[in-house]
Amino acid sequence: MASVERDYPAAWRDYRRRSFLALGSIVASFPGGLLIGLALSARLGPDAPMFVAAALTLAIVLPCSFRLAAWRCPRCGKPFHGPLGWAEPVKYSNPFARQCDACGLPRQEPGPGVWSRH
Ligand SMILES: [Zn+2]
Repeated sequence: MASVERDYPAAWRDYRRRSFLALGSIVASFPGGLLIGLALSARLGPDAPMFVAAALTLAIVLPCSFRLAAWRCPRCGKPFHGPLGWAEPVKYSNPFARQCDACGLPRQEPGPGVWSRH
C-alpha cells in the first residue's frame, strides 16, 4: 500500500525542491559541460566539449527528472505525475501536471483543514 503524507506543506516543499533540481539540472548541466569540455579540449581533442556536455547532461538530468516523476501525492500516495514505466492501458507521466493523476489533488493544495478547498 502506498504511504500517505499528512504534512502537506512539507510534502509540497519536497515537491518544489525536486522541481527546482530538475529544472536547474537542465539549465546548468549543458553549459557547465561545455565549459568543462573546453577546459579539457587541449587533452581530449576538439570533440571534448560536446561529448562532455552530453555526458554530463545525461548523468545529471536523468536522475533529477526521475526524482521529480517519482514524487508521490501526499493525499493518495500514488505517483503525482502519473504512472512510471509501462502501464496498461498505455499512459504516460505528465511532468507538467497541475493535479494528481490518481486522485485529482490540485498542486500546492494546503491540505486538510481550514484553508482546504475540500
Ligand atoms: Zn493523489
